[in-house]
Amino acid sequence: MNLYAAALVFFAGIGIASATPAGPIAIAIHGGAGTIDRAEMSPELEGAYRDRLSAATQAGYNVLEQGGRSVDAVRAAINILEDSSLFNAGKGAVFNAAGQNELDASVMDGATLNAGAVAAIHHIRNPIDLAIEVMEHSRHVMMIGEGAEVFARERGIEWIDPSYFRTERRWQQLLKAQSQQAAAPPPGSSFYSTVGAVALDQSGNLAAGTSTGGMTNKRYGRVGDSPIIGAGTYASNSSCAVSGTGHGEYFIRYVVAYEICSRVAGGASVREAGDGVINGVLRDAGADGGAVIMAPDGSIYMPHNTTGMYRASINTRGELFVGIYGEDSG
Ligand code: ASP
Repeated sequence: MNLYAAALVFFAGIGIASATPAGPIAIAIHGGAGTIDRAEMSPELEGAYRDRLSAATQAGYNVLEQGGRSVDAVRAAINILEDSSLFNAGKGAVFNAAGQNELDASVMDGATLNAGAVAAIHHIRNPIDLAIEVMEHSRHVMMIGEGAEVFARERGIEWIDPSYFRTERRWQQLLKAQSQQAAAPPPGSSFYSTVGAVALDQSGNLAAGTSTGGMTNKRYGRVGDSPIIGAGTYASNSSCAVSGTGHGEYFIRYVVAYEICSRVAGGASVREAGDGVINGVLRDAGADGGAVIMAPDGSIYMPHNTTGMYRASINTRGELFVGIYGEDSG
């Protein structure tokens, strides 16, 4: 071997030795929990839900596979759900009592505990992007309403006319809710279809994000759990990552996402913590809901106390699971 070849081998060796070994990656997402009745679901509609859930999971997973950050995987997955009219986030957002679409979102980085949240916004196509912008480019954690939208303009976030969010299906849901004088969804309602994601990247960092239109016929100015760090979203590399969906007022009162992670920090598995809070605390309080939970080793649990939850995951073995009904398991 001449000197040149020997040098190449030597430097290639250094390159290999100094590269960080790639850790396990995983992602889990939800598109809302609620009464999901098989009899009311056409094969076409079910196929459309499964297609979007699978595309969103795969988009997030691709980011992780390429060595991207868990925050960017969460964004990639949520963007696909926000752009679909099937889910109550972005394009498919529900209407408030004033006939407006008022959107909320939040994100948390489990490595740094940095977080970003926005609430009551009307002109941003992908609210999760603005939440990430608040986290990464402001001194604050949460911005609301007009101020959040001024910040969005300054940062060059895509600005759209609110008519973009208007869909006939959601409009009819509002009219129905108003004719029933429903100020809040009755137990077992099918109102919840917020979206969210949790992910683990190759560097071992967890992240969580949630995006929603809130609840149909909510009072203007009402803010639920989805943009509240600790209630609808939480991530810490030392415990777990959680994104929730359900009756937001209860998720706030019981600090659901943080409560799950604090149980994991105390030694519970994601299954024990998730069941204890979603099927224990929340159920006892009479609240509907579900969550996607990920531990620092990439293990996933997706509990819900409703008949179904739109959900999907790719685990650390690279296996894709898509589920809708309670009996779907994987
Ligand atoms: N948690 C959301 C809220 O209360 C609703 C949902 O999950 O669909 O705003």
